[in-house]
Amino acid sequence: MEMFIDGAWVAAKSGATDPVTDPSTSEIFDTVPRAGAADAEIAIKSAQGAFKSWSLQTMAQRVGILNACVKAMRDNADQLGAALHRELGRPLAGCIAEINSSASLLDIYTEEGLRLHGEMPIATGAGEKTIVTREPVGVVVAITPFNFPITLLMFKVGAALTAGCTIVAKPSEDTPTSTLLLAEIFHKAGLPKGAFNVVTGSGIDVGEALVNHPVPRKIAFTGGGVAGKAIAAAAAGTVKRVTLELGGHCPAIVCTDADLDKATTAIARHGTANSGQFCYRVNRIYVERAVYDDFLKKLMAKISALTLAPAGGQGDLGPMVNEKIFANSVRQCEDARDKGARVLCGGSRATGAGYDGGFYFPPTILADVTDEMLVLQSETFGPVLGICAVDSAQEALERANNSEYGLAGFVFCRELAKGIMLCEGLEAGLVWLNDIQRSSHYAPFGGVKQSGMGREKGRWGVESYLEFKTIYLSYEVPE
Ligand code: NAD
Repeated sequence: MEMFIDGAWVAAKSGATDPVTDPSTSEIFDTVPRAGAADAEIAIKSAQGAFKSWSLQTMAQRVGILNACVKAMRDNADQLGAALHRELGRPLAGCIAEINSSASLLDIYTEEGLRLHGEMPIATGAGEKTIVTREPVGVVVAITPFNFPITLLMFKVGAALTAGCTIVAKPSEDTPTSTLLLAEIFHKAGLPKGAFNVVTGSGIDVGEALVNHPVPRKIAFTGGGVAGKAIAAAAAGTVKRVTLELGGHCPAIVCTDADLDKATTAIARHGTANSGQFCYRVNRIYVERAVYDDFLKKLMAKISALTLAPAGGQGDLGPMVNEKIFANSVRQCEDARDKGARVLCGGSRATGAGYDGGFYFPPTILADVTDEMLVLQSETFGPVLGICAVDSAQEALERANNSEYGLAGFVFCRELAKGIMLCEGLEAGLVWLNDIQRSSHYAPFGGVKQSGMGREKGRWGVESYLEFKTIYLSYEVPE
């Protein structure tokens, strides 16, 4: 594929390309341009040109076009889902679901856009009025990771376009094709050329060129902490606004009175979805000692029932996206085993027919883990759960909060007062009590501490692409 800039497919100025690989077989099935600073310049110029007219359209006009984009997205969900499946490896049904869920988020952003309004303080003098309005921030750079390429793109693109901004998106090196296809689908549905451009290539080359460029007014980033901190530092050079959705290492606390069937069902699903490759998954679990053995037994039964989907076959979990992400799960399991943890299931690479071509890692339970082990210290980004017994919920809370991360937390506790105390005590942007339902498109999403800054989704998502403007009016008051 080529890049999608200014409503057309283009190659990189240098002519260089990078391979796109199927993670289930390691087969190269496509290439995309390896863009550099010259390509970033062209894409930003295109977005800058489009901003002039897109930002001046009425909200109703923009929403009308974006509604057509939502419809086109749903109409093409199978094609987009298949592209996502090929580049990411997640089973197809989950990829199509991601497309439809992302379309729903765009629906909600447009609803929120129609509800936006300004203010006018009434505490003004005679012959004076003060209008507080909001304007789109300008050209936005959206940089996204591999794990939910369309969802995490839509967090940004949907809100920015609704607000009247235009976009240059830079998808992950691993998963560029679904983003490229989406840009063309939106353009064919009526989005003006230049409003949503996509450049491909590495974070260091084209990513840094986009971040350092003086024209964009906001960088919306989801990805790892190392890249996030580099982007925030670079963006400071031109005082750009920054939204950072970074890593997570999310704790669950299971209390003595918890509904263990519900807790283990939720944790088994949430801890292994997308092969554990998502930021707000349950990663570490603190269980009150009285129910520790029961909890492990029930969780084991549910985790052991999950299957790996071989290349071209059916199953619950696909391969890890690349060797680097896979190696982290291997490293954390080896470290835990060496330091005395019990590996109740999984724990090493899955091999055999249908698995040898990809980086397959089975759902894994590490029991009796201690704070010295990597699995209790840093994000796994794989289907590995570290579990330990605690003597009290207070101990669980303290250990849960003893982390540089603060994205999500989970509490399982029937006693409401204790459950609420734990939810309020967790240092996290998102907390669930007694089950783990999908994160709501209507509610703010984001973390505290080193899990990031800013919020996406809901009206907060759209508002983060708007800047306040205060207009002071004076007029002669008739005698
Ligand atoms: P990554 O940080 O390696 O890459 C993310 C994106 O940033 C890619 O497009 C990459 O090319 C680009 N990039 C890297 N360095 C850059 C630089 N210096 N300047 C500009 N762009 C740069 O992340 P990944 O491996 O794709 O994804 C995994 C990470 O993403 C995990 O740490 C995970 O927790 C995090 N993540 C966070 C959330 C959230 O909402 N908090 C959601 C999903 C993933």
